[in-house]
Amino acid sequence: MEKKALVDHTSQKEENEENVFTNFLLNTGLYQPIEITVDNTSDLADLIGGKERIDIYCPECKAKRIFYSESISYEAEDAKRGLYKRPLEEVVRSKVCIYPNGNPFTEFPEEDYRLMVFKFFCSKDEDHHLDYIVLTQGNKMIKIGQYPSVADLSFPELKEYRKVMQKEDEKELKRAIGLFASGIGVGSFVYLRRIFERIIVNASKKAIQEGKITEADFGKSHVDEKIKMLSDYLPKSLIGNTVFYGIISKGIHELTEKECLEYFPVMKGFILLILRQWEQMRRDEEEEKSIQASLSKIASKITKS
Ligand SMILES: [Zn+2]
Repeated sequence: MEKKALVDHTSQKEENEENVFTNFLLNTGLYQPIEITVDNTSDLADLIGGKERIDIYCPECKAKRIFYSESISYEAEDAKRGLYKRPLEEVVRSKVCIYPNGNPFTEFPEEDYRLMVFKFFCSKDEDHHLDYIVLTQGNKMIKIGQYPSVADLSFPELKEYRKVMQKEDEKELKRAIGLFASGIGVGSFVYLRRIFERIIVNASKKAIQEGKITEADFGKSHVDEKIKMLSDYLPKSLIGNTVFYGIISKGIHELTEKECLEYFPVMKGFILLILRQWEQMRRDEEEEKSIQASLSKIASKITKS
């Protein structure tokens, strides 16, 4: 039985609004830093205040779920109340006013911001957790831990695409994600490009088999042209988006490690989107065949009688 999460989340923000710190938690590898600036302090306050929700694959539910977060408090003391729990969010927000131009974190309560744990709960069952540990030094935050790992979060999702993805693709996609999680940017791009190229080659095999294109024409064409030639055989987001190959190739030859790491989540997201659409195409085709077969049976039955 699924347990329902008990917290009232009505005040939480929409999951699609981009928060740079939430994005940092989800999409950077370990030991990558993010700078806290006056401009992004409000995002940090939202995250610390438990106002962020994330839409991510839950390895326990084996499906995409919304995860909610918890507000972080620290022990404060004043003459009137003695010791009391004060939301850290208030401190973050107030510092924006006090230090508009400088480092907003010079007077943070030391132990509560040096190491912070961000806890997220699955909306279907609050026993499904997603935890991130962040170390703060001055105005820099570094992700030093997360559980489940980037790999655990990504790999189960890949299983869903096994029917449209070759074993080799799955292996290399895992390798790309693993490299990214260990802070290796250019290497992770190499594997993404190999997977992308194989997707195109696989689609071409089908098109050649069905006589829509010839092997010779395909062989001498540029990637953009190949994608155009295969428009009936590739998922629609791939046909509408020819810049992927350019970015990934530039990454391998010209971009820095840091740039590749920064762009990796989007590039991986694109590959997953293609696989998802391809899996949908496969299911539609399967359903179409089965319905057609059934219709023919009915038709022949009717004609006979
Ligand atoms: Zn779950």
